[in-house]
Formats: sequence, structure tokens, C-alpha cells
Amino acid sequence: MKGGAFGFIPIERTTGGYALLKKLLASNNQILTKTSLIDFQKVNDRFLISLQGEKEHVLSVKKLVLATGGYGGKFECTDNFRYSSYVIQDLVIKNGGNVKNKDSIFIHPFGYNKGKKILIGIESMAGEFLDSKDEFLFEERLRKMIKENNYHESFSEILERVNRITSKGEKIYFVDSKRKLEIKPTVHYTGGGIDADEFGRVYGIEGLFAIGECRADGSRNGGRLPGYAFTSAIVDGKNIASILARELYSA
Ligand SMILES: Cc1cc2nc3c(=O)[nH]c(=O)nc-3n(C[C@H](O)[C@H](O)[C@H](O)COP(=O)(O)OP(=O)(O)OC[C@H]3O[C@@H](n4cnc5c(N)ncnc54)[C@H](O)[C@@H]3O)c2cc1C
Repeated sequence: MKGGAFGFIPIERTTGGYALLKKLLASNNQILTKTSLIDFQKVNDRFLISLQGEKEHVLSVKKLVLATGGYGGKFECTDNFRYSSYVIQDLVIKNGGNVKNKDSIFIHPFGYNKGKKILIGIESMAGEFLDSKDEFLFEERLRKMIKENNYHESFSEILERVNRITSKGEKIYFVDSKRKLEIKPTVHYTGGGIDADEFGRVYGIEGLFAIGECRADGSRNGGRLPGYAFTSAIVDGKNIASILARELYSA
């Protein structure tokens, strides 16, 4: 094989993808690292990249693939890992690329534990959403949809109702047979990000790729919704592997 490639999965910042990859990691932990990409700069036809682990390393590479996830972790209320700094978008802009659709943010209405967790459908259907006077939060139509776990197309309506109540300073709760949780809508997924084509080729920076949730893809309604986000990150990964392998073997 000509050239060389490497990739890694940071172990300190876990998000949805990491959780889903746990099984794979059980049989192969060689792909884990504590190293972060802290800077990169395009110099002629190569990238000088700075990696911060126990020590700082500077490498020169021909291609750079960013698979750094969404920016949900920048928000205070999110079920993603909370980043103290999320530099990737700034680095792309510094090198002549673009970041778009930043307001394409998917807020899950049923966050709890200060937004660190979300109630999924089968959990929501097993209880009731109540206001501080113990009255049903939602009208019969929405309650029925939630009970049937068939409310995902009505997130905006549900969120609007939740926000209307909480913006007045009132609290809302989810109650089932075991628990009473204070509900706090939370940033679950971000649809904007690095401007790139469908194969992840970043516009304006030859040799740079952005795949998965870090790549801007449509809008909140017309683009990816959590449910196929993970799959789309995997498909992007497969596409990029084919593109780079083809380039490598034809060089
Ligand atoms: C709680 C939760 C549940 C979800 N459930 C589902 C689901 O059921 N189905 C579904 O399809 N989607 C789901 N999603 C969304 C899905 O998990 C993500 O869209 C998907 O994991 C994105 O994959 P990714 O590889 O692009 O990014 P990520 O999985 O976020 O991985 C990006 C990695 O890059 C690292 N990173 C960031 N910056 C740097 C840096 N500077 N240097 C080095 N590393 C860096 C991050 O720490 C992270 O480990 C869920 C998300 C969350 C938060």
C-alpha cells in the first residue's frame, strides 16, 4: 500500500456515535486515543496539523478528513458531550472554507436531568406530561400521539407548547409509575456545519473532507433528523474510504 493513513476515536469526549460503537471497541481498542486536533493549516498542497495528546505533535499530511461531530456540545443544555472548546469550524474558516446553516439545530422537547438526557418514545408513552398544577400539558390529540409513540413529526408543535409554559418561568414534569422528572428541552443534534459536497469534499479547501454530523446537510426540517444521522455518518465514512482508496491506488 502506498502512503499511510490513520484515524482515531477520542475516548474522553463521548457522544452518540461512541455509545453505538462500544461493541466494536470491545474487540478492538487500538482505535482509541486521547489526542485532539487543535490546529491545521493548508501550506501549498499539504496540511500541517497539530495534535494535542500527552505531547503536541505536528504532522504534514496530504488529505485531512474531519469527522468531528456536530456542535450540539457547545450549548449549555445538550445531551451531547459538552465541549469547553470546539475549534473545528473556526479552523475551516481560517483556511478559506465556509460554515453554513448554523441555526439548523434540532432541539428535543423532552430533555431531563438538566438536558443531559432525553426521554425516548417508549419512555414518553409510559407516563404523562404535567404542568406545575398537575394538569395535562398537552391537549388530547398530542397526548394520544405521545401515548402511541407517534409524535416525532410533531416535535415543533410540542416544543412550542413546552416553551410557551417554561418561558413564563413555570416548570413542567414527566411523571410515570417510578419517577417525576423536570423537563428541559435540549439540543440533541445539529444540522448545519462545514460546507462540503455530498462526498464530504470541503468547498474552497482542496484535500479537506468533512463527514458525518460536522458536515452541513440541509435544514432541520428538510435535512437529516436524528434517526438516520448515525447511518448517514457511516455512509459518509464508507464513501470517503472509497474516494481516498481510489486516489491512492491510481496515484
Ligand atoms: C444521546 C444521543 C443519542 C443519539 N441517538 C441516535 C440514534 O438513535 N440514531 C441516530 O441515527 N443518531 C443518533 N444520534 C445522533 C448520532 O449519534 C450522531 O449524529 C452521530 O454519532 C454523528 O457521528 P459522527 O461520527 O459524525 O460524530 P460523533 O459521533 O459526534 O463523533 C465525533 C468525534 O470527534 C471528536 N472530536 C471533536 N472535536 C475534535 C477535535 N478537535 N479533535 C479530535 N477529536 C474531536 C468528538 O469528541 C467525537 O468523539 C444520537 C446522538 C446523541 C447525542
